[in-house]
Amino acid sequence: MKAKISVELPKVKLSKFNLPRVQKALTQCLQCGYCIEVCEAHNQTPWESVTPRGKIYYIKAIDTNGMDIVDTALGRKIELSDDFVDAMYKCTGCGNCEVVCHAHISLVDLWEEMREWMFKNGAGPLPAHKGIAVNVKNKHNSFGESPAKRDAWWPADIERAAVPDAIFFAGCTGSYRMQHIPTAGVTVLSRAGVKMNCLGEKEYCCSSPLLRTGNSNLSLECAEAVVEKADGMGAKDMVMTCSGCYKTVSSDFGKYYAKVGQNVYHFSQYVEKLINERKLPLNNEFNAKVTYHDPCHLGRHSGVYDAPRNVLKKIKGVEFVEMEKSRENSRCCGAGGGYKSAFGDLATNIAAERIRDAEATGAEILVTCCPFCVLNLTQGAKKAGSNIKVMDLSQILLQVTAPKEAASKE
Ligand code: SF4
Ligand code: SF4
Repeated sequence: MKAKISVELPKVKLSKFNLPRVQKALTQCLQCGYCIEVCEAHNQTPWESVTPRGKIYYIKAIDTNGMDIVDTALGRKIELSDDFVDAMYKCTGCGNCEVVCHAHISLVDLWEEMREWMFKNGAGPLPAHKGIAVNVKNKHNSFGESPAKRDAWWPADIERAAVPDAIFFAGCTGSYRMQHIPTAGVTVLSRAGVKMNCLGEKEYCCSSPLLRTGNSNLSLECAEAVVEKADGMGAKDMVMTCSGCYKTVSSDFGKYYAKVGQNVYHFSQYVEKLINERKLPLNNEFNAKVTYHDPCHLGRHSGVYDAPRNVLKKIKGVEFVEMEKSRENSRCCGAGGGYKSAFGDLATNIAAERIRDAEATGAEILVTCCPFCVLNLTQGAKKAGSNIKVMDLSQILLQVTAPKEAASKE
């Protein structure tokens, strides 16, 4: 059954989308359908309008006001409708369609541009996304939690350096829902002698949930706050365990505001560097069969595939196995692009599929590099009735880098 979308649709008369990227995609798409099979949103909602091909066809129909030859012959009137809004938001922004599209269409940018257009014209975002935007506006985080508690995860035994080597950016999920992940990240880096601090109350949402759902105005406010605070701290580097934050800060900030003045690293990259420089001793074994899930924002979107794998392979005792769908062909966990907040059950179903992929390898542990993926995959494991353990890379390193006597406790 189709979900009822409760957004007030604009009364504007639609004419051509005056967006160069959209126009280019409309002419590029060959309607071949190669993109359909890899689309997890379509696997959950098997309508043609949800497929990447169907979305483009739908956009084209609206762009021509339903005045192409077929529509005219059938007397069919095409207009902005609840179904169109629903189809545009039934997308995790995973980028899998872009990998297989042989017309080389920049599909992720296309979906985001369409959502931005919908936001500006009053047809988006969905109610759940509006709630997130209100939270970010009022409390600077997507959960509406107190900004004063933003850095409550910081480990009490680690000093916050006045002039740090690296700023640790925890992100909203890390700060308020999955605190053990940034706590582990900072603890691991401190064992390599890295002097760190965080932005504390001044850490704003990185703006990823806003950008992905079309709210570019508020994104600017977030980027401004983060850049201003970070650049005043004198650090050379910025490190984060969240893949969504990494993609946004490292590549989106510079597109619509300014880049941060630091070198931006995902935790997996920073740790690999520290291990290679012999600054981070791997003191303990981790005896388990392990597989790795590529977060879309770290893998397909940012091209970081090797660092997490290289780190895992350096750990004694790890038996590393790949899933069939890995690296650029990785199955999305289902959490991204505002999909989880709007279509929670469907997002958990996708995560359950990913758990089955992991189980097929015989692995006992599914490792990933993003608190939002850990959260969704853990819910997916529950739904799939699986005993596989989902862990962030930082949690494994917390055990492996511990002084020998503390390892078993951690
Ligand atoms: S980005 Fe992912 S979810 Fe969205 S249309 Fe493409 S394959 Fe489907
Ligand atoms: S693979 Fe590319 S060209 Fe083919 S239908 Fe999908 S978006 Fe269009």
